[in-house]
Amino acid sequence: MAGGQAEEILIKNAQILEVSSSLESIVLVDLIIKDHFIANIFKGKERRNRYEQITPQAKIIDASNLLLAAGFIDMHVHLREPGFEAKETIASGTKAAARGGFTTIAAMPNTRPVIDSVEMVSWIQKRAQEVGVVRVLPIPAMTIGSAGEEVGDFAAYLAAGVVGVTDDGRGVEKKSVMESIFKKAQECGLIIMQHSEMHQLSAGGVVNQGKAAERFKLPVQGNEAEYKMVERDADLAEKYGVHLHIQHISTKESVEIVRQYKKRGVKISAEVTPHHLTLTDADIVSDDANYKMNPPLRTEEDRQALIVGLLDGTIDCIATDHAPHTALEKSQGLLKSPFGIIGLESAFPLLYTELVLKQKVLSLSMLLHKMSTQVAETFSLSQLGRISLGAPADLVLINLDREFTFDKSQLSSLSSNTPYLGSYFFGKIMMTIANGGIVWERRDSDVNNFIA
Ligand SMILES: [Zn+2]
Repeated sequence: MAGGQAEEILIKNAQILEVSSSLESIVLVDLIIKDHFIANIFKGKERRNRYEQITPQAKIIDASNLLLAAGFIDMHVHLREPGFEAKETIASGTKAAARGGFTTIAAMPNTRPVIDSVEMVSWIQKRAQEVGVVRVLPIPAMTIGSAGEEVGDFAAYLAAGVVGVTDDGRGVEKKSVMESIFKKAQECGLIIMQHSEMHQLSAGGVVNQGKAAERFKLPVQGNEAEYKMVERDADLAEKYGVHLHIQHISTKESVEIVRQYKKRGVKISAEVTPHHLTLTDADIVSDDANYKMNPPLRTEEDRQALIVGLLDGTIDCIATDHAPHTALEKSQGLLKSPFGIIGLESAFPLLYTELVLKQKVLSLSMLLHKMSTQVAETFSLSQLGRISLGAPADLVLINLDREFTFDKSQLSSLSSNTPYLGSYFFGKIMMTIANGGIVWERRDSDVNNFIA
């Protein structure tokens, strides 16, 4: 990553959340960053000695009343470059990530051309080095052109440092092709990340089978389009002993399948989006394409199952599926507009406000865990997702008490396709440090957005 110059930084008086026997407590810490890494952590009384450990050139950040957490990791982001630079670029998308507190993001391959060769993977890595401000993990396609036929060169991907493969945007329909993918993944240990959608069951469907479909007379895609594929692939994961990761899980049936296979010891994990955790198809009250995403918003029963799944460990992580589209593209209503909404800048404040503060279904520590530590564990991203000595300094400072209006001034993304504009959120990201450099810092122009 390019942005954020590595320097010596002392973060003082920060609050970190510690959990013991399910009780959350705040501990005051001072933390020193040197040469990209966390060099010292002082807790409580140890903090007296902190100045002996830094040089006069060190930058000192007073983090009084701010929560210090491990930088967030999002394994599902559409950066749109190359090919769709009007929607987003690697530069703007990583800036949006930094603004949302993310320090590592995985780039989906459905660009133009599709990322389906080791040359394309290297191109993304190089471009991210040059213009990106956070760590970018390219996730190449499972099949050439994501066409669902010819399996890509997994061994070459692995050698290039890739962690997983996906044809996101569509699911691999043919079972025979999926078998070849599992066999290849078994040889080299890549994680299979599947956008679970049986096209023959979902074709043409733009919303869930339910209220919005009736109201606006729209073609539907039901729950089975998702869970039939989850079921098929979970069987294959068991057969081949390969790690299968279910992308943007959205139905109660899929949650139950993942739960059962996990119980049997199958290597299967799942991610859920902030929008599927906070909205249902009953929230679609006008022909507004900012409520159109794939998989579609489901019912309240599904949403509740997702929350239970997150709490009981069936669902491992939160991923935004940040999917930027231009205003023009999204102006065509539910039927004609492309699928997807942006999510990087709103993810934490939205989930903190809705699920932790208002609905009280999730603890703050659980939310942080599902956005950082557990994501790193699920994808074996060693050293990431935790605040520990010697780890890369990927950190976020959050003001939990600051209420702000989530409007366009809060976006670094080139697109603004989100149904959350105008919402009031708590949990403002004040600073993001990626690989030891400051990549996002609240500026004065931003103050207008504070109500307090
Ligand atoms: Zn997808």
